[in-house]
Amino acid sequence: MGGPASLMLTMGGVGHVIIAHGGDMISPDLNRQVLGSESVLGKPRAGDFGEYLRSMNQFVEVEAIGHEPNDAEAAELAARCDIILSCPPTFEERLRLNLAAVQAGIPFIDAAQWGMTGTLIVVKPGQTACLECLYPEPPPFEELFPVVGAISAATGSLAALEAIKILSGTGEPMWGKMLTYDGYRGNVTIVQLQRRDGCACCSSL
Ligand SMILES: [Zn+2]
Repeated sequence: MGGPASLMLTMGGVGHVIIAHGGDMISPDLNRQVLGSESVLGKPRAGDFGEYLRSMNQFVEVEAIGHEPNDAEAAELAARCDIILSCPPTFEERLRLNLAAVQAGIPFIDAAQWGMTGTLIVVKPGQTACLECLYPEPPPFEELFPVVGAISAATGSLAALEAIKILSGTGEPMWGKMLTYDGYRGNVTIVQLQRRDGCACCSSL
């Protein structure tokens, strides 16, 4: 999802895009990774993905970080960003980025997927529920789970659209809402999330 999201942001002319992704490109990535190709197999992903993004829009500055940020790095990155899009596979990483965004007071968009289902959550720190309001603890994580590329592209693109709306002041961002697209049945569900009293991440705001 980070691939299509960053691609749509870059092609859309967002001035400065930072991507962070560790590891080498592997063949299972090929069903969804729009920034990669078979020629990148076995090579570090972030550097090549950054090159591809730069090739798509010379006016956009692209920074590529070749690993997932730790807590301190996430906080440092958040301090110089206007918005965070979260697209990693694990709850631990998603909650880390949520915390960094809430502490920096910047909007946070969480994109997630499992099989043919995609979800999107749009957070305005201190005003709407944050990701930790929903998940106080990281739920059990399956190392291997099904991923359909069309869902990655759709969910990542919707995350980019919300970011473009927020950054440009256009339309009505989905503040505090969770959108779920059930691709098995073609159903879209949108619910308004409630903040959780005592949330360790955002309740002091
Ligand atoms: Zn919260």
